[in-house]
Amino acid sequence: MKAVIVGGGYIGMEMCESFRKRGLEVAVIEKMDRVLGTMDKSITDVVDEKVKAEGVKLFKETSVEGFEGSKGMVTGVRTDKGVFDADLVLLAIGARPNTKLAQEAGIELGANGAIKVDDYLRTNMPDVYAGGDCAEAKHLVTGKKVYIPLGTTANKQGRIAGENAAGKNNIFEGVVGTAITKVFDLEVARTGLSPLEAQREGYEFFVSTVKGRSRSSAYPSGKRITVSYFVERGTGRLLGAQMVGEEGVAHRIDTLAACLYSKMTVEDVARLDLGYAPPFATVWDPILVAANVAVKKLIS
Ligand SMILES: Cc1cc2nc3c(=O)[nH]c(=O)nc-3n(C[C@H](O)[C@H](O)[C@H](O)COP(=O)(O)OP(=O)(O)OC[C@H]3O[C@@H](n4cnc5c(N)ncnc54)[C@H](O)[C@@H]3O)c2cc1C
Repeated sequence: MKAVIVGGGYIGMEMCESFRKRGLEVAVIEKMDRVLGTMDKSITDVVDEKVKAEGVKLFKETSVEGFEGSKGMVTGVRTDKGVFDADLVLLAIGARPNTKLAQEAGIELGANGAIKVDDYLRTNMPDVYAGGDCAEAKHLVTGKKVYIPLGTTANKQGRIAGENAAGKNNIFEGVVGTAITKVFDLEVARTGLSPLEAQREGYEFFVSTVKGRSRSSAYPSGKRITVSYFVERGTGRLLGAQMVGEEGVAHRIDTLAACLYSKMTVEDVARLDLGYAPPFATVWDPILVAANVAVKKLIS
């Protein structure tokens, strides 16, 4: 049975594993030049290698134009590069805020058509609050409003909107764009701005990539971790970080999310007192190695 996944984002890539485990042939069609479009090539190259090794066929820079079918069943996906046979199609092409009802009620919209909210999650309408996938949030790296629909944000915004609706005066400070996903046995993670986003925002920055290990080499079964930092030229401020590897990635990104929240430079990151024991890390954790390499690049 042939499955065609349209869209190589988080959901499309997560579904590759499910479909392969059920014995399906899997093709992913992605219009961008990479899967997981907000990730740097240093990260997506590792993902490409993994999914290909798992038997998934990737078709990048390919756009879907329509579907073919017979007797009410799909038989193919039509693209600008030809027709792909399909018994099953999964469309995973992103999310848009469903704000028609709000708009019709006179509620102002903001980033990407999501409901515009202030720090207290108030809309322009008295006593109407918004949070979650329908609402925008402030990005703490740029200070601008963004639309990043995630469960973690929805939960925090929901709590604060509820508290404020009940009479409190709490602020939702914002997000730093942290997200994690699992592609087969790879952990893929990001926080802060991606290179594309940093470019769009007009930052002068450089990319610094290192390869480290999840555990001390003296300890069995450590795995390789690729770490990329996006660093503002001149100031050394960490704008974003991304990682990929078979273990130890998902929890490490949280340290960097905290660094972004505190607006740290890579020099600050290099000074962090992180835990070390052979089963868990290397004595110079990949986070620190990446920071030291970035500091060298910054001053050279
Ligand atoms: C496949 C998938 C995987 C995901 N994985 C992750 C993940 O790993 N990590 C993460 O952080 N986020 C993840 N997300 C995103 C996360 O699920 C959402 O950000 C989160 O659920 C948003 O919460 P919400 O309450 O705003 O909206 P929802 O959870 O969508 O809830 C909205 C509810 O409102 C109801 N509703 C809508 N319109 C009306 C109406 N007019 N009247 C009454 N009820 C209405 C809907 O039926 C729904 O029950 C994932 C999303 C998907 C689709």
